[in-house]
Amino acid sequence: MALVPTAAILDAAAGHAVLAFNVVQLEHAQAIVAGAEAAGRAVVLQISENCVRYHGALRPIALATLAVAEAAAVPVAVHLDHVESETLVTQGIRLGVGSVMFDASRSPYAENVARTAAVVRQCHDAGVAVEAELGEIGGKDGVHAPGVRTDPAEAAAYAAATGVDALAVAVGTSHAMVTKDAVLDLDLIAAIRAAVPVPLVLHGSSGVPEHDLAAAVAAGIRKVNIATHLNAVFTASVRAALHETSTVDTRKYLGPARTAVAAEVSRLLGALRAVPAQTIGTPA
Ligand SMILES: [Zn+2]
Repeated sequence: MALVPTAAILDAAAGHAVLAFNVVQLEHAQAIVAGAEAAGRAVVLQISENCVRYHGALRPIALATLAVAEAAAVPVAVHLDHVESETLVTQGIRLGVGSVMFDASRSPYAENVARTAAVVRQCHDAGVAVEAELGEIGGKDGVHAPGVRTDPAEAAAYAAATGVDALAVAVGTSHAMVTKDAVLDLDLIAAIRAAVPVPLVLHGSSGVPEHDLAAAVAAGIRKVNIATHLNAVFTASVRAALHETSTVDTRKYLGPARTAVAAEVSRLLGALRAVPAQTIGTPA
């Protein structure tokens, strides 16, 4: 149990989903792990480059997140999300993360392949898995681009050329959505699944209705990334708590928010049939 390589969860996921939730503050890591323990499921904690920028450095939030994972009663992996800097990849490897999403999706294709392949070689030497993205999934700069699509043949060529362990695909979602009206292209997911041997990852899942997320997993998505949805749950709880009290004790509103996020994580892990904890062995 406790901290496991991301690959251990991805490899055990046949017929199940790998749910990955973003950590912003320590309370998120605690809430996500508490939810996973309550559900008896494995989970991935993600730290994005944007989160690192917020904290001013990777080390404080990564060490806190790794410590929470190590103490967990279920398998928990720690992943770096949307890393555009090779320097941050190196820092993550040294700190002990289990996987990195290296995002060179803004680069021209040939440059994306070359940079990603180099990161894959570095990470594999350290036993760290790499996720990459092909077909930029919009929304990270407030620009939603649900029309972008990943081409199955290009995805197959890209996976072969880079050696990545997982591939984020553009199939109708957009990042940072606070409405659940993204329309997934399930036929495209199935076509990419048939063409690409590595697990597929859905970003921007917060904008997708829950029954469509289940359909996406059935069509071939293995890892589902959720960030904005939990932030909405967290913030709603804080807003309600502050409305009811004039306390200045931050624990009085962050504590209930942490509890609310844990309950939602537990519910989602069950609803989307996340990997059961017992299917992953204790690392040697
Ligand atoms: Zn993303």
